[in-house]
Amino acid sequence: MPEGHTVHRLARALDGLFGGEVLAVSSPQGRFAGGAALLDGHRLVAAEAWGKQLFCAFAPDLPDVPARVGREPGGPHELRWLRVHLGLYGAWSFAGDGSADVVHAIGAPRRRIGERETTPDDSGDDGAGPGGGWAPPEPRGAVRLRLLGAHAVADLTGPTACEVLTGAEKAAVEARLGPDPIRADGGRATPEAARDAFVARVRRSRVTVGQQLMDQAVVAGVGNIYRAEALFRAGVDPLRPGRDVPEAALAGIWDDLVVLMRDGADRGAIVTTRPEHREPDGGGARPTRQNTDGEPGAVPRDASFYVYHRDGLPCRVCGAPVLTKELAGRNLFWCGVCQV
Ligand SMILES: [Zn+2]
Repeated sequence: MPEGHTVHRLARALDGLFGGEVLAVSSPQGRFAGGAALLDGHRLVAAEAWGKQLFCAFAPDLPDVPARVGREPGGPHELRWLRVHLGLYGAWSFAGDGSADVVHAIGAPRRRIGERETTPDDSGDDGAGPGGGWAPPEPRGAVRLRLLGAHAVADLTGPTACEVLTGAEKAAVEARLGPDPIRADGGRATPEAARDAFVARVRRSRVTVGQQLMDQAVVAGVGNIYRAEALFRAGVDPLRPGRDVPEAALAGIWDDLVVLMRDGADRGAIVTTRPEHREPDGGGARPTRQNTDGEPGAVPRDASFYVYHRDGLPCRVCGAPVLTKELAGRNLFWCGVCQV
């Protein structure tokens, strides 16, 4: 499942590709036909992420109506919000005419982002239409949602959630989410309030800190990789009850997540190792696909993590074998020496 940094990148890509444009919205598979009809012919005015939730705002294309008229909640032209959660199997596929904006937004004329971070697509179908003009490729697989603009197309397959919300319904979804380290305000009134909310929430419970970090109501956007890596970098035992972790340690974990996850969103890959610890492990760890694989200058994936998928390999800091165990249905990775 993509972690929050990937969803933030998707929001940026959708904004870059389609922001301000009137889109043809459809559901080639048919399962989202009703929702697509609510958005078809509307203008995508903004895309944003909160944790693993993606929200796209659509406004009616009404050239004679000033932008703010009727957009208030309950008004006749209120924004409609597309909410997408990729879940385990969801993915977006992008294709475009290769214009500079498209390449800037998605890094290549055709790209798939979602499950296992990214899957390069080498179908050879470049979408060249008759007469050399660009034509969107045929939908491939069960495409729940297609967003089609003048220069690009985005196809969504296999999401856990895909629905159209009012502003009030979107706010209700957000109210259930913990603070998000990637958002500039952390998803609270101020960045400091976001950190305080995280610290207080973890310390309210005796559930292990390892389990709480995966709870989207505690912190939004953290998945199995950031969970394992942030706890390692903080030297905190993932099996320690939340209420027993010192406030300063939790505040430090939050501040570290802010840096790591924003870097992930910018870089398109998770890298948590400090340069002095980046000895490749010779492919001993199970491979984790990342968006930047193969790009010049990218940190190799077998040098990117301290503990994630490195069970049995020597800890990069102390040399003890990295441990693993199942916790609440997900594999946890940690060093029993460095994290006490
Ligand atoms: Zn260690």
